[in-house]
Amino acid sequence: MQVTNVNSQLPVTHLEKNLRAVQQRIVRAAEAAQRDPNEITLVAVSKTFPAEMVLAAYELGMRHFGENRVEEAGEKIPRIKSQNPKAEIVWHLVGHLQSRKAKEAAELFNIIHSIDSLSLAQKLDVRAAAIGKRVPVLIEVNVSGEPSKFGFALAARIEFFAAVREMLALRHLDLQGLMTIAPIVSDPNATRPHFRALRLLRDELRAQFPERAWQHLSMGMTDDFEVAIAEGATMVRIGRAIFGERPHP
Ligand SMILES: *Cc1c(COP(=O)(O)O)cnc(C)c1O
Repeated sequence: MQVTNVNSQLPVTHLEKNLRAVQQRIVRAAEAAQRDPNEITLVAVSKTFPAEMVLAAYELGMRHFGENRVEEAGEKIPRIKSQNPKAEIVWHLVGHLQSRKAKEAAELFNIIHSIDSLSLAQKLDVRAAAIGKRVPVLIEVNVSGEPSKFGFALAARIEFFAAVREMLALRHLDLQGLMTIAPIVSDPNATRPHFRALRLLRDELRAQFPERAWQHLSMGMTDDFEVAIAEGATMVRIGRAIFGERPHP
């Protein structure tokens, strides 16, 4: 049976090997960039993988997990909590958030990486207020300008800074930095200008709005996380290199 397979020795061994390899690559990339590896958080993106895989990774020391759909997380997170009530997991929403799911997202997640419009920020703020939370968030920026991607357009700078000013006034959101998804390219080095642009934008935000630390740059995935670390990533979102290839939809 497939379900028991998940708990068997073999996949967990694979998981441990993958996890240690990724952790080692993060340390090496940080050291090559003369950065402290401890300032980089590995977010294990568990989308499409079952609760049992998350719990197995938790047993191996992982504490940060990412999901991209509220619906899937709404089933998986309570399941994990019931199976291991003491597990202290930090849940990251890394995928696009629809406004109508803002309330559920505010309840389920500890940090939301995907604030991609002012109206979403405003709705999330209202929902967070209603449940008495202040939600850590990152602003998603579409650096590459690909129409398929969510996020604030980097080209529309005046609008972007105006939106940030308004978001800073939302008392139930805690703006902590920026997130981007690089284009899919065969040479990971080709992603470098996109990551660098996000870092430079972060530096501008720091200069313009020094009341916040803007401490986080969420960038880098399985195919490009080392380049992202070289350019200053503080959170890398990694799925396939840890959990294996995802089943095709
Ligand atoms: C799926 C996903 C990831 C992880 O991607 P991998 O290529 O599996 O590492 C990271 N960020 C977001 C927003 C995702 O949707």
